[in-house]
Amino acid sequence: MDRRNFLTRLSSGAALAAAIGGCRTLPAASAGTAEDAGERAARGSAPLTITRVRAIATAPRGIRLVLVKVETSEPGLYGVGCATFTQRARAVVTAIDRFLDPFLRGKDPAHIEDNWQAMYQSSYWRNGPVLMNALSGVDMALWDILGKRAGLPVYELLGGKCRVACPVYRHASGGSPEEVGEHVQSFIDQGYRHVRAQVGVPGQSVYGSRGDRDGVARGHFAGNLFEPRRYQQIVPKLFEHLRKSVGDQVELLHDVHERLHPIQAIQLAKDLEQFHLFFLEDPFAPEDIGYFEHLRRQTSTAIAMGELFNHPLEWIDIVSGRLIDFIRCHLSQVGGITTGRKIAHLSEWFRVRTAWHGPGDCSAIGHAANLHLDLASWNFGIQEAVEFSGAEREVFSGAPTLRDGMFWVNEAPGLGVDIDETAAAKHPIEDDPPFDLDWGRLRDADGTIRRP
Ligand code: MG
Repeated sequence: MDRRNFLTRLSSGAALAAAIGGCRTLPAASAGTAEDAGERAARGSAPLTITRVRAIATAPRGIRLVLVKVETSEPGLYGVGCATFTQRARAVVTAIDRFLDPFLRGKDPAHIEDNWQAMYQSSYWRNGPVLMNALSGVDMALWDILGKRAGLPVYELLGGKCRVACPVYRHASGGSPEEVGEHVQSFIDQGYRHVRAQVGVPGQSVYGSRGDRDGVARGHFAGNLFEPRRYQQIVPKLFEHLRKSVGDQVELLHDVHERLHPIQAIQLAKDLEQFHLFFLEDPFAPEDIGYFEHLRRQTSTAIAMGELFNHPLEWIDIVSGRLIDFIRCHLSQVGGITTGRKIAHLSEWFRVRTAWHGPGDCSAIGHAANLHLDLASWNFGIQEAVEFSGAEREVFSGAPTLRDGMFWVNEAPGLGVDIDETAAAKHPIEDDPPFDLDWGRLRDADGTIRRP
């Protein structure tokens, strides 16, 4: 049966149920039985196999992106995913092309959970950002294939829409509280109701600010200077100014980016309590998650955590212990839509809301994966968003769009985003673009390396 006839059959509800049921049936060729094959034939769903898995590297925004394309035995049917670990892009490309491609050829793309577990166990030593990004890109592509096969957007396969679209927060910055205030106001004027605010510290390199990024410490070393005490003092002054200048109706957020010593982060969270942040992000590094219990006892400031998480033991205890309010993993760091769905469901029972990481080093396909999960998760909290450039929209047809302070997905079957490989080839990746040069050269005044 060709795809057009397959999709035509889906116009009846009974055929749709049969098609989705058919996708869950193991084929005789791998783990199923002759009876399974008979059921599949009766439903008219031809056996499907993965024929090739390959990485596509491109940088339309100047940020290295790694994409995955999973091709199948049905002509024209393929899926796409995001496997972007921009700091080690070429290592992820190797993991996909040299290891996952030969491992996955011949497998059924509809067996998403089974394929996920097989990929995960296949390296024996598991986790780590290179392997998890490679695996996650494949996982998203398999969900894309399933959606295209069923003729449904992925959010329908995940349980259907809980909301019409996904409210987002935007990122405002500046060299002074006044400058940040103007930036926040510009987003409010565009209809956004959530804004993350970051302010520069004179002479220092501060995360997320357009201020001074070249503070070299008194000639003692080459690199960027960050002294936590000054930053800790300035941030409450920023929010005092913002509440006076932009009012108390807009939801304000702030990212500590794990830069403070734990006790300083606790002090900052207490100082900011009076300004009722929507959330304070990454107050501690993943290595310091034992501090969340201490933080929780001392302040009601809402806490978001998780963009660096890579291993289940990093999120299970702080979610089940009700120690955070928002879980914000980077989907391609944790295992794609399959793991994201599990984290969302786990979090729902503890009233922890989702806030998936959505930065510039996440492709439009990765953002679409976030959004399909957001749409189907009752405990969705907020979505980090970026405005895609013209070059990105040329590479990624069907990229999500921003309107009315919300992100909207393309309603086409699957993830709704495709890759124009000719356009992608116009933007080859280069090694060491300026984007990530700050990581690994941030130092205290005495020259000690700090976390990024
Ligand atoms: Mg962050």
